[in-house]
Amino acid sequence: MNESEFTDAELLAYLDEALPVDRMTAVESAVRALIALRTRLANLLARRDHGEHTLGEIWRRGRLSCPARQQLASYLASTLDDFWADYVEFHVFSVGCRLCAANLEDLRQAKLAARGEQRRRKFFDSSAGTLDNMSRET
Ligand SMILES: [Zn+2]
Repeated sequence: MNESEFTDAELLAYLDEALPVDRMTAVESAVRALIALRTRLANLLARRDHGEHTLGEIWRRGRLSCPARQQLASYLASTLDDFWADYVEFHVFSVGCRLCAANLEDLRQAKLAARGEQRRRKFFDSSAGTLDNMSRET
């Protein structure tokens, strides 16, 4: 294990928790083992607090490369055009953006919940209208 195996950009991304999971783990265990790496992290933090922002860092912090939530929703609905669908897949699965992965998962859950709700509505509408009205009121 060597501290030079990590770039400054990677370490800053680590501080923002914006690395793919396997890289997060690699940095984490290296930080525990290497004093030199801890010193570097501290220096990077100090430099950042003094306003030295790299373009890559601003990009990451602003999440400029992240697709919008609406695009992620369209991706799930398979209504996104090929270019953006490829981009979403690259961004989430190859780059490993954890924010977007969490966002996608959240949208997936919301979609499942909505589907369940629809089924419930259909059931109540067809079998017991009054019960349906009661459930809407609560
Ligand atoms: Zn993202």
